[in-house]
Amino acid sequence: MSHIRKIGVLTSGGDAPGMNAAIRAVVRTAMSEKLSVVGIGHGYQGLINKEFIPLYGHSVANIIQRGGTFLKTSRCPEFQTKEGLAQAYQNLQDEGVDALVVIGGDGTFRGALSLGSTYHYPIVGLPGTIDNDLFGTDYTIGYDTAINTVVEAVDKLRDTAGSHDNLFFVEVMGRDAGFIALNSGIGVGAEDILIPETVSDLDKLVAKLEYDQRKHKTSGIIIVAEGDELGGAKEVAEMVKERLPNYHMRVTILGHIQRGGSPTCADRVLASRLGYAGVKALLEGRSGVMIGQINNKIKETPFSKATKQHPQIQPEWLEVARVLAL
Ligand code: ADP
Repeated sequence: MSHIRKIGVLTSGGDAPGMNAAIRAVVRTAMSEKLSVVGIGHGYQGLINKEFIPLYGHSVANIIQRGGTFLKTSRCPEFQTKEGLAQAYQNLQDEGVDALVVIGGDGTFRGALSLGSTYHYPIVGLPGTIDNDLFGTDYTIGYDTAINTVVEAVDKLRDTAGSHDNLFFVEVMGRDAGFIALNSGIGVGAEDILIPETVSDLDKLVAKLEYDQRKHKTSGIIIVAEGDELGGAKEVAEMVKERLPNYHMRVTILGHIQRGGSPTCADRVLASRLGYAGVKALLEGRSGVMIGQINNKIKETPFSKATKQHPQIQPEWLEVARVLAL
């Protein structure tokens, strides 16, 4: 028999489409287990500021389709101090919250690890980030929506690229991880994809574009992850322009549109399943873990591992992208 009677749920760090669907799943699963639920506004900042919002089944009606997070989110440096952590714990005790579900990225899980291990407090995490950069899950909540947003935007750019014989350098999100760039790049049939995990070779890119020019292919799409070591799309375009002045080049930085929008069905289903599994895990006495999905099965990974290890880009995908761009 679990001692947990009341659970808290919060979203933290960068928002991601599907976070609302995850909150809904947590609340409704908790209701079915006769638990009380309290939402915490603005992530860890709300724990410190006592932003506790009682939630019921109907509180999460009509949010499964909405992007962002209705609980709001924040970055909270105070939570990284001993005093901030102590205040957060004290507030949870005062409010009678027995366990937490946190939804966010690796920073959020570092915070959860800190709170959970310092005070032996039960916490599970759900991977909510568009970057897909967490170890312990095939996909993070929000990633599928983000790559579909990129594909939709780049398809439109391709129309203009073709009509005007333009070469578009499109910058997508991914400071440390190239998953968005690689997968959306394959999805739009990009001429080249530059990601932080591999050494980007300007000479090779120029040689490929010269080859395309000889074949009278004068338009194209180059996807650049913002964290590529050559720079962002603007820097890469400038370097290429110096070498190939005849190309008509354009730069588009997709920016925050990649974080918003109605979640895809895949993200809603993933969020629903992980939210359900998170509450079950807490009630079965497990904590300090991120709930992920690997090969379609629920998998729990300790926070320490989910935040330290990085999922790898599969080299075969890079090869697929290269071969198909010929
Ligand atoms: P994400 O969860 O999307 O990676 P952040 O890296 O901004 O986003 O992390 C979200 C929040 O988690 C931070 O604002 C901070 O409050 C908390 N956090 C991050 N790292 C730590 C840490 N090492 N110790 C305690 N809290 C942390």
